Amino acid sequence: MSLLERVDDAVFGDQEQSYIILVVDDDRSIHLSLVNAFRLENYQLEEAHDGMQAIEICTHRMPDLILMDAIMPQMNGFDACQRIRELPNGTDIPVLMITGLEDEGSIFKAFSSGATDYISKPFNFSVMKQRVAWLIKANRAEKHIKHLAYHDPLTSLPNRANLMQYIQPVVSHAVAKNEKFAVLFLDLDRFKMINDTMGHDAGDLLLKAVSDRIRYCVREQDFIARFGGDEFTIVLEKIQSADTAAKVAAKICHSLSQPFVFMQKKMFVTTSIGISIFPDNGSDVSSLIKHADLAMFKAKEKRNYFFFYETGMEAEIADRLEMELDLRQAIERGELELYYQPKIDFRTGDLVGAEALGRWNHPTDGISGPNVFIPLAEESGLINQLSDWVLEQGTNQLRSWLSKDYKLTLALNLSVKDLMAEELHSKLEALMRRHSLPKNVLELEITETTLMSHPELISAELVKIKNMGVSIAIDDFGSGYSSLNYLKRLPVDVLKIDRSFIQDIETGPSDSAIVSGIVGLAQSLGMKTVAEGVETDVQREILGKLGCDSFQGYLVAKPLPAGDFEEQFLHKTVTTDIQ
Ligand code: C2E
Ligand code: MG
Ligand code: MG
Repeated sequence: MSLLERVDDAVFGDQEQSYIILVVDDDRSIHLSLVNAFRLENYQLEEAHDGMQAIEICTHRMPDLILMDAIMPQMNGFDACQRIRELPNGTDIPVLMITGLEDEGSIFKAFSSGATDYISKPFNFSVMKQRVAWLIKANRAEKHIKHLAYHDPLTSLPNRANLMQYIQPVVSHAVAKNEKFAVLFLDLDRFKMINDTMGHDAGDLLLKAVSDRIRYCVREQDFIARFGGDEFTIVLEKIQSADTAAKVAAKICHSLSQPFVFMQKKMFVTTSIGISIFPDNGSDVSSLIKHADLAMFKAKEKRNYFFFYETGMEAEIADRLEMELDLRQAIERGELELYYQPKIDFRTGDLVGAEALGRWNHPTDGISGPNVFIPLAEESGLINQLSDWVLEQGTNQLRSWLSKDYKLTLALNLSVKDLMAEELHSKLEALMRRHSLPKNVLELEITETTLMSHPELISAELVKIKNMGVSIAIDDFGSGYSSLNYLKRLPVDVLKIDRSFIQDIETGPSDSAIVSGIVGLAQSLGMKTVAEGVETDVQREILGKLGCDSFQGYLVAKPLPAGDFEEQFLHKTVTTDIQ
């Protein structure tokens, strides 16, 4: 619908009863005729006998129009009009002044007292009715256009222009009263992915629901604006301390992280929030918003998190941006390398495969691990490019080892964004064909938390991948919260038990109970288990007894460069079938 159609629809489509105040001090017959004429046209009328009374009524409820005599005893129409204009919401109400004669003096007086229009006596009733109807419609249209210009049509929240207008007096007020206020800058995490994969209609539904949830987390008087796309800004006035803002931010993070259900489908979204406090973090509107935005950028590193602005954050963020640029170049300059960690069978003690883990050989900072650069790659959109490199490099290496008659499987770690990207299965198929890889030698690991945040979206892609003879492992299993329902339906072959349960398994009876539970669950679903991060013989013994199938860990080896891995672990041929 075009803007004009929307205005038309909003203003003229709805036949709501108009409410007018009639302030006429004239002979009874004109008065009565006016009352009858408007009542017949279905107007809601309220009568005032002089200017004072009209003001009194307006303070309780602003009408859609005031029809007022210019000359009256007590307070005349000109003064009353001026006073009404000073009332809250009084500036935009149409006031139609009835002047005695069409003399220039009273017309001038009418307009300078703030009247919208005038009509002079003696008047024709039908002209009067038309004039009133037109003024009300024009006023509604104007109000509606203002609303459209200052509100976001999707969520009906104030928009960015509105926020800028709103916040300026908030600053002045806070200065005058020596008060604090907070600006919260929210950006939804991974919203683009939801929009791209589930469609814009679903994205719109989610944005609306998000704005409703935010509303429930703040006080009624707090100001919420949709700043743009998936960004929202909240102004919390009159706060005692930064603590209040922290509580609100935590409440919003928690509330938004709960699933949204649309048409029996669950959607998950989280938000990152940056906070700036007046006057500590800025004394003007633009620096407060800029600082809240910077703090949000910092919160993005963690996601579902909030951060207060701190001096020096600019430098930190500039460093991060530089690192992002570095990472982009790292892929091109060949600074990335895959290390390989052996996976060992509990029963036979033989090598069954390897897991490829990324490393970045930075020319000046040395080697850094994936915990540093994977989140950076995910946030900056580089992850797909990085994963393409991992897939290419990994399958190439595997081909080379298989060609030397070493028998092993290779597990590659992927981000959930790779599964959301276009046709991962076709990419894998092409790679497998190019390297003539047989079935059952490749495994893809996806962490539990990311997998379970969008199980429905990726399950079809996973099925295609599995059908090509590539097995699927859930990484860090137990660290997130898998729904048994999904676990049953997803085409998963392997559960990799998170290191946190292995670490203290020697002393913590609850950990061994959990591992035993996971093994039982895997067995009942026809899946295999891999224990991650086994460092001691005792851990290995316990895990073996609990029925795990294989393990990885420093007990056998840390992840090693390809050459070292080959030298240390691929000297003998072993049987491998992870299925
Ligand atoms: P992950 O896939 O669960 O890998 C296991 C991590 O535990 C590796 O850390 C490994 O070096 C470490 N580890 C293995 N055995 C032990 C042990 O006995 N003790 C201890 N303390 N740690 C052990 P790393 O290499 O730093 O990788 C961290 C995570 O980054 C990986 O966890 C994986 O989720 C992700 N990752 C690694 N490479 C890639 C990649 O190429 N692409 C993607 N998307 N993610 C990757
Ligand atoms: Mg892994
Ligand atoms: Mg893991």
